[in-house]
Amino acid sequence: KVKVAICGLPNVGKSTLFNAIAQRSIANSQNFPFCTIEPNVTPIPIPDPNLEPLAKIASSKKAVPGTISLVDVAGLVKGASRGEGLGNKFLATVRECDVIVHVVRSYIDDDIIHVDGKVDPVADAEVINLELLLADLAHVQRRLEKNSCPDDEREVLSKIEAALEEGKLARSIGLTETETFLIKSMGLLSLKPVIYAFNVDDIDYFLNRDEVLDKVKDYMNQIQYCDLEIDSYMLTSAKFESELGLLDAEERSEYVASFIGEDDSNVLEQLSYHILPLLVKDILNLSLVYTGPGVPVERSQTIKTHVISSGISALGLAGKLHGEIQRGFMRAEVTEAKDMLMYNNYNEARDAGNVRTEGKDYVLQNNDIILIKWK
Ligand code: GDP
Repeated sequence: KVKVAICGLPNVGKSTLFNAIAQRSIANSQNFPFCTIEPNVTPIPIPDPNLEPLAKIASSKKAVPGTISLVDVAGLVKGASRGEGLGNKFLATVRECDVIVHVVRSYIDDDIIHVDGKVDPVADAEVINLELLLADLAHVQRRLEKNSCPDDEREVLSKIEAALEEGKLARSIGLTETETFLIKSMGLLSLKPVIYAFNVDDIDYFLNRDEVLDKVKDYMNQIQYCDLEIDSYMLTSAKFESELGLLDAEERSEYVASFIGEDDSNVLEQLSYHILPLLVKDILNLSLVYTGPGVPVERSQTIKTHVISSGISALGLAGKLHGEIQRGFMRAEVTEAKDMLMYNNYNEARDAGNVRTEGKDYVLQNNDIILIKWK
């Protein structure tokens, strides 16, 4: 399961953003009935225009979208890496995540106190970045002190230690896949890609968008301990998104229209609820694959999207579905979503020669539809 940590200084809008997204997820939750929603973890569906049409073709009663888990990590403050403000506990939560959404306060509101007394997005981002870096340094050094640390791991960690001491991030030093694997369980924070979410006021979000985006690009160039090749950014208006969450669809369009003078559903598609999962998918190079095309058709209850990392085999996916399916794996039938969408049902696609047979080592590709045969 892909986990995304929302981090940032206090009062930057993390919980507001999290709640706005959670509310939308709950409102749509008939789509993912097996997800329980915990107070600080919420599933966000990855927008996927293929899913509903595929569900129709497969005569599925249910279409379950692929989701990523968003985790609200409260309370990172200056000194967190030394345990300040329960820092260790919060950093441990971030270690278990795959990517960091770093919320940066870029709105001005004199009623809401800023921890350092003024709104300064670049300085704020650097406070958190430095804590993440220092936390890694301490974590790596503790591990290196242990005699039980194997030599090959030690070699990689020493390299990272030297980089961190120079203010370089673990994700910026070009570790090989093997090296990354050796230190995976450390959960190094500076190895995780970051998406900066610049939280702006609704007015700026709508009416000064271009200007604000220029400013944000400027911030990105200034922020220290950031890797412009790997990291990414987005504009958000957490407060606006949370206000939208209280409205039904019609009211929502009207509310948006009240800002921009017309009903523009594109604006709604730009909200974090839609953009964030897409950014995460791109940044982590994730693929969507579908299971549950119906053969026979009446058996097809659910079509489900799985979010997988690149390189996963058919057998690997079988294991995610069920241990028994993996053990009994015989072969897989594979089609591409775009091919399947040309037919009325699965059998038609197969008769037309668009379904091929693959073995357990087949590496799944984005948008594959897979039907596993097992005994
Ligand atoms: P957290 O500590 O980072 O989780 O911050 P919260 O989400 O609790 O937000 C702190 C305060 O800032 C709350 O009162 C929010 O309503 C307010 N807030 C969040 N986002 C915005 C925004 O875009 N504009 C304004 N004016 N206030 C915001």
